[in-house]
Amino acid sequence: MEPTHIEHIGIAVKSLEAAIEFYENILGLKCYNIEEVPEQKVRTAFFQIGKTKIELLESTDPEGPIGKFIEKRGEGIHHIAYAVKNIEDQLKDVADKGVKLIDKSPRKGAEGLDIAFLHPGSAFGVLVELCEKK
Ligand code: ZN
Repeated sequence: MEPTHIEHIGIAVKSLEAAIEFYENILGLKCYNIEEVPEQKVRTAFFQIGKTKIELLESTDPEGPIGKFIEKRGEGIHHIAYAVKNIEDQLKDVADKGVKLIDKSPRKGAEGLDIAFLHPGSAFGVLVELCEKK
């Protein structure tokens, strides 16, 4: 697959505002974008650190994926996103290798990236996101 870098780390939080305050005032990062992704029932806040971003995820609906995640496991790391090229080919390739996919084909994520998730059951308990900037 040869991912080029960790594109972002997704972190589920109960309150975007409270978490932004921590990332800005304690860690000294600057939030450069807040975006709602209605299809995923989340509001996201982004911080850049090197080539990698921190993506904070706040649920807009208790029945959405982040709402359910926090209900079950509490706040914390939700997924790791790897930057790849030719995401469609990568998905086919890993599916051929027996990896369980959540997304069989890419969809639009925050910041206009094409994204797809691999099932944590095939990835040692970690929800893995592949993403490609087209
Ligand atoms: Zn993500």
